[in-house]
Amino acid sequence: MLKLWVRKWICREASCAQRIFAERFPEVVQRYARMTDRLVKALQAIGVTTNGADAARIALFFGMPTTSKTIIRRVLQLPLPSEGEVAKVGIQETPPPLRRRSRSSSIVDPYLSYLASRWN
Ligand SMILES: [Zn+2]
Repeated sequence: MLKLWVRKWICREASCAQRIFAERFPEVVQRYARMTDRLVKALQAIGVTTNGADAARIALFFGMPTTSKTIIRRVLQLPLPSEGEVAKVGIQETPPPLRRRSRSSSIVDPYLSYLASRWN
């Protein structure tokens, strides 16, 4: 739990639409956020290297209790890596080697299963 003391200012102008102005901390926490940016980044880092359930267990171990769904939601908020410019477009006629399934499931598993089903 993080307590953040925020200064507020009240505008005395009757026509002011805003009325109340609160101090912001854009380098620490976003508006209406329930987690600091640092916590979000930590959960995303754990989430992209494991899966939702394992990430939640690891996060709990490090004092960041959360749910697997929250981890997955935070990972999905990450921008997709850039593929760069497309040099060539074509159809690959031989299937790529399938990666051996690890013992723990991963959030990309449904996609890999989908790809595997397309090649069989
Ligand atoms: Zn004002």
